Amino acid sequence: MAKKFTQAFTDQSDCPCQSDLSYGQCCGRFLKAADKNDTSVPQTAEQLMRSRYTAYVLGNSLYLLNTWHPQYRPQKIDLSASDQQWIGLKIKETHKGQAQDGSGEVHFIARYKVNGEASHLEERSQFVKMAGQWFYTTGQIL
Ligand SMILES: [Zn+2]
Repeated sequence: MAKKFTQAFTDQSDCPCQSDLSYGQCCGRFLKAADKNDTSVPQTAEQLMRSRYTAYVLGNSLYLLNTWHPQYRPQKIDLSASDQQWIGLKIKETHKGQAQDGSGEVHFIARYKVNGEASHLEERSQFVKMAGQWFYTTGQIL
């Protein structure tokens, strides 16, 4: 777990993806559903992208693996070794990726700190939908 969120982080907390919703109303629906093998899945590529960002913030590597397309997914993700602290997400643009689409692109900027030093990642991420569920495939770092 990321240090910042180990205490006092609840469903009522602001969602880490900065949607202005609470965690329980936003990404929490999907991250917790994945734990329970529930059927709550993101309806759009943007929702999946946001929930994956939140999974990075919270150190939920299982969710990241489960939402990564099997053809592109790494063997494992070790977030505990990273000093990276995610501090903000901004969605710049989306292309397709709506509930009725089979693929989509999300262009975002994620800000983070490493050893106190601020930096950011700008990426165009690609998503595809299989059997009604969105998956991350690859991203082009800008
Ligand atoms: Zn969220």
